[in-house]
Amino acid sequence: MRNTKCCPKCGSREIIRVPDNAHRYLANSICVTKLAFVKRVPVARYVCHACGYVEDWVENQRERDVIQKAFG
Ligand SMILES: [Zn+2]
Repeated sequence: MRNTKCCPKCGSREIIRVPDNAHRYLANSICVTKLAFVKRVPVARYVCHACGYVEDWVENQRERDVIQKAFG
């Protein structure tokens, strides 16, 4: 949905991007912990307005590198 601007489930083009806020209490972010250092990687959500389908994206390459180091 992020790249096509189109819902893969229903074909709608009404896509809403919901940015993550890593400082929010119920953030959608991914927690990566290294010793005592805790970092949260923001995850943006793309929501189809028509059917409600949701995709999650880690949009920043450097943040994806952090996840790869932690879990890869
Ligand atoms: Zn849809």
